[in-house]
Amino acid sequence: ANGLLCYCRPGFEPELAAELGERAAQAGDAGWARAERNTGYVQFFSTQGHALAQLLPLQALIFARQKLRLLAELRDLDAKDRITPILAALFEQPAFGDLIVEHPDSDEARPLAGLARSFGNALRPALRKAGLLTASADPHLPRLHVCFLSGDHALLASGHPRDASPWPSGIPRLRTPPDAPSRSALKLEEALVVMLDPEERARLVQPGMRAADLGAAPGGWTWVLARNGVRVTAIDNGPLRQHVLDTGLVEHLRADGFQWSPPKPLDWMVCDMVESPKKVTARMAQWFREGWCRHAIFNLKLPMKKRWDETRECLAMFEEQAQRPLRVRARQLYHDREEITVLAMSTAH
Ligand code: SAM
Repeated sequence: ANGLLCYCRPGFEPELAAELGERAAQAGDAGWARAERNTGYVQFFSTQGHALAQLLPLQALIFARQKLRLLAELRDLDAKDRITPILAALFEQPAFGDLIVEHPDSDEARPLAGLARSFGNALRPALRKAGLLTASADPHLPRLHVCFLSGDHALLASGHPRDASPWPSGIPRLRTPPDAPSRSALKLEEALVVMLDPEERARLVQPGMRAADLGAAPGGWTWVLARNGVRVTAIDNGPLRQHVLDTGLVEHLRADGFQWSPPKPLDWMVCDMVESPKKVTARMAQWFREGWCRHAIFNLKLPMKKRWDETRECLAMFEEQAQRPLRVRARQLYHDREEITVLAMSTAH
């Protein structure tokens, strides 16, 4: 097998396949995707071998939660000894720095969680004995991923620590703090953890900064910002939870999020208004064009059909209309349902 293994939200395999095909073609690769709806993963077979993995960094992919290099596909595994064929398939590989045994996030594969856990515990010492795994985790070396598709069918893949998600199945384990006003809070929390690297997070999200939250009620995103010490103007005709206001960092304005603009430029604007993606995109671009904010995180709710086309069109429209030097990243986060999250950062000082 020469190609990529990517995980995605079940149901979004066609979008991920289209994205990989298009991005590979731009890089001069005539490879092809193998995708089946609701399986939670896509394989992409490259005509350039492993070079493609470097041309498509995970950070630049929208619908992939994880991006790995395929090493082998193992079928008809014997439940009594799955280890021997895995060691045989890895023969002559250099030692890996860590092991993740996982499964795609599909209804069919989710019951394999128990197997993944217990098999990981059995495989780890066997890999060490065979010289295929370092004695303790080494964050500089590729990680070995064993992805169970069923009890007797697994994919072997490797992930580079700098260009792969560190989380099993590519799903960040975030806890909802008990006083979070809404589950939506996790979307912004995840965006800050997954879409920014630690250095960017420390530099770009600092106490004393100012932000606007468009479509803020009941206050999840505002609360995440306030917990980082950011002062927030929360725009929504609906009410915010009292304890969000009690932070002393939040001003609530009952106004239309498509009309309101800040009296002076802000560090951040975040937006979770449920509206057509083109309408949201146009307004977000206006914020940058007018210089109302330096950075933004916003959600685009995707329509039922043509989700890849809509994504591409909105991102192109945003970059064109913003008329600013921006770094733009988009991602369907784990906590995003039929939507994607866009991060835009001004690069000018
Ligand atoms: N991010 C919020 C949180 O974490 O709690 C949840 C936001 S909820 C998905 C969408 C919100 O957008 C609703 O409270 C709705 O009132 C608001 N909204 C929709 N259209 C709006 C508009 N034109 N102006 C202001 N708020 C709007």
